[in-house]
Amino acid sequence: MKAVVFESFQAPPHIQQLPTPDPEPHGVVIQIAASGLCRSDWHAWMGHDPDVALPHVPGHELAGTIAAVGKDVALWHVGDRVTVPFVGGCGACDECRAGQQQVCHDQFQPGFTHWGSFAEYTSIHHADLNLVRLPDAMDFTTAASLGCRFATSFRAVVDQGRVSGGDWVAVHGCGGVGLSAIMIANAVGANVVAIDIADDKLQHAQALGAVATVNARECADVAAAVVEHTRGGAHVSIDALGHPSTCFNSIMNLRRRGRHVQIGLMLGEHKRPPVPMDKIVAEEIELLGSHGMQAHRYSAMLDMVSAGKLSPARIVGRQITLEDACDALMAMDRHADVGATVITAF
Ligand SMILES: [Zn+2]
Ligand SMILES: [Zn+2]
Repeated sequence: MKAVVFESFQAPPHIQQLPTPDPEPHGVVIQIAASGLCRSDWHAWMGHDPDVALPHVPGHELAGTIAAVGKDVALWHVGDRVTVPFVGGCGACDECRAGQQQVCHDQFQPGFTHWGSFAEYTSIHHADLNLVRLPDAMDFTTAASLGCRFATSFRAVVDQGRVSGGDWVAVHGCGGVGLSAIMIANAVGANVVAIDIADDKLQHAQALGAVATVNARECADVAAAVVEHTRGGAHVSIDALGHPSTCFNSIMNLRRRGRHVQIGLMLGEHKRPPVPMDKIVAEEIELLGSHGMQAHRYSAMLDMVSAGKLSPARIVGRQITLEDACDALMAMDRHADVGATVITAF
């Protein structure tokens, strides 16, 4: 099979012929039809993620058709149309047994702990626990954007942020994750303020339901601007980018007893950002992480998609080939694209 491979961190990736994988007894092999590009793929390529061993095939936002099934798999068959969360559970640890596979002690992450989906085929472990069946009406390109940013945003807004109707929600960073969070928060009845440094992304945010925008490049005090828009501060604020300044602003623009949800990864030199702990104590601020979403929670999100309340297709941006992905991966930190870039030709 064809795959994008890098042999050392930060060296240009290239297309290589690799053996097509066989399924694990508990797993399946998926023929990839679409694979999203994500900033965490860039982090993996940079060498920021200790789970990545070389040589490596990146890619974790995948959708496709089951091509082979392991002998112990009960629920899935060749030909099924599926996607997976970017964190797969082991099924045996306490967190998995409690239904919290997104924080499993022995995680399976395609494109990080194992080879991923910038390839014609990918092997997925513990299929009965981790696969998600696609609705017939959902195309693979849209489905590929669910596995990471959309599902993580759904969990951040609905399960972790506990956003409800009438809340003010601030979303810092309007890439794929941020735009997803804006759409989802709007769908559950919140008023959303979008923050970014690019006007085209802020326009996209408005089209997806943001009621106010702040261009952080033209604004001396982002937190104060959000507090003004929200008449006293956001109830829930999300750092969808993962940068010390967006994280700090996201906490600072909260009203008392507000909730900050960190979705954007903090890796490398940004691993331990400054946090205004004085405000957190005095105003009883909650800090929450959001790390993917369990396969069993996808049905809530997919039902909202089927009902027309969420349209993940609207955050899909450019569609590229597997060959294009080599250059696109190296450029992921430049934030130039509006919406999610997806590989759709292999
Ligand atoms: Zn587990
Ligand atoms: Zn991702």
